[in-house]
Amino acid sequence: MAELFRNYVAGEWRESRTGKTFANINPANTDETVGLFQSSSAEDVLPACDAAAKAQPAWAALPAPQRGNYLFKAAELLEARLDKLAEEMTREEGKTLPEAKGEVKRAINIFRYYGGEGARQFSYQIPSERENVFCYTMRKPLGVVALITPWNFPSAIPAWKMAPSLVAGNTVVIKPASLAPLSAYRLVEALHQAAIPAGVLNYVTGGGGTVGNPLVEHAAVRAVSFTGSCDVGNALYDKVTKRRLRVQLEMGGKNPTVVLKDTNLDYAADVLVNGAFFSTGQKCTACSRAIIEAPIYDALVEKLVAKTRALKVGNGLEPGVQIGPAVDESQLETDLKYIEIGKQEGARLLCGGKRLTGGAYDKGFFVEPTLFDGVTPKMRIANEEIFGPVLGLMKARDFEEAMQLANGVRFGLSASIVTRDVERVHQFTNRIEAGLITVNLPTAGVEYQLPFGGTKESSFGMREQGPQAMDFYTETRTVYLKYTQ
Ligand code: NAP
Repeated sequence: MAELFRNYVAGEWRESRTGKTFANINPANTDETVGLFQSSSAEDVLPACDAAAKAQPAWAALPAPQRGNYLFKAAELLEARLDKLAEEMTREEGKTLPEAKGEVKRAINIFRYYGGEGARQFSYQIPSERENVFCYTMRKPLGVVALITPWNFPSAIPAWKMAPSLVAGNTVVIKPASLAPLSAYRLVEALHQAAIPAGVLNYVTGGGGTVGNPLVEHAAVRAVSFTGSCDVGNALYDKVTKRRLRVQLEMGGKNPTVVLKDTNLDYAADVLVNGAFFSTGQKCTACSRAIIEAPIYDALVEKLVAKTRALKVGNGLEPGVQIGPAVDESQLETDLKYIEIGKQEGARLLCGGKRLTGGAYDKGFFVEPTLFDGVTPKMRIANEEIFGPVLGLMKARDFEEAMQLANGVRFGLSASIVTRDVERVHQFTNRIEAGLITVNLPTAGVEYQLPFGGTKESSFGMREQGPQAMDFYTETRTVYLKYTQ
């Protein structure tokens, strides 16, 4: 019998009032249920928001360095269980064990970084125009914050929302993705074991709208931080801005890598394979368009095909596996649907393109890493987020055409360029429409201590991570203080 995981409300582990649960299934082996989670409803969400509202004044009154200490303690507890947590993540989400381990380490680093932010919440002292007047700003928490997170980084994303939010003095209700709720549960559990006061952090699982709607509609909620698809994010925006809630949306991408003719081809092929296929292409920052200058196109494509064919796809727990499964049947079907669309649109399938079957593959949602040649700007596979291991190759006459192709989509999350030409590098970083830019590195692979977020339709609101995350979770107060009468 699979283990039962409860909601965390007002400092207690509680079963849902619905009495129902849902199964968290291993996408590499659907015979395995990783755990049973609560199918919550509004009746569970309301007490969680009420508890957060009740706990907030005392939490905000605690000195910020003391709030940070809970994060330090939780980081220590998580570190002691790193191997177990990484294995659980692989079992619930499918990414390979080294990737999962890297992500749990990142969540730990995030807790430590924002733990330190407790002692570093900078404000400003600004000269006054008037005599004997001292002016400064203060940062104040917002109140109760609702966090809604996706399945693809089931530990890092909850961590990078929870940690700055808590250290700023907000209380939190988090709704993790139903496909991978265990990794976020472990973060909450660590903070519970670190003795975080009751009500400061609340965790409620269940269906997107069923839990998400009452959560963002609760009167005590002052801000919503969401990461997920554009459809859900845009609908949330319409709903919460009517109440003038602060909102942050991190959504989809169609991220390009531009490869210029001066580059080392083996190096460029590695950058592309890493960016497009690792984590099964299920990163918002994954590369899905390779835009290659014409003189090196054929030679680079040849190398890419060889490296893509050599990738080992399988259960992420097995040593040597580089690419895990799609997260569920629906994502697998989306991948296969877009592969079909690509073929019908006239793109040429160079390798991959099929579901993997036979033996252990029959138990999971495995798809071959796929390369399409001859992708043109109007094709759907050049414009729509697939969120799977599918890379479209586009030939550019020169740098100017490469820039047009790179910027010619509605998204603007991450983008990279592979070249040794320093002039082009600066032109690219200035002109590319993306919030995250890498040079001679894959489009994916960001660090927690720098701001994170996109532009155009990929993102809305203030940046996450790095020192800038504190801006979203705090409100500035301005003080004019005359010290004489
Ligand atoms: P999703 O379907 O939009 O779900 C994201 C979260 O929203 C989940 O917790 C989901 O709950 C919840 N949700 C669904 N419907 C809702 C509603 N009506 N009201 C409130 N919440 C609702 O996205 P996903 O499939 O989990 O994640 C993949 C997407 O996330 C991709 O588009 C990817 O690009 C994007 N992403 C973006 C970033 C970034 O930083 N830009 C990072 C990672 C992922 P359920 O799970 O219960 O449905």
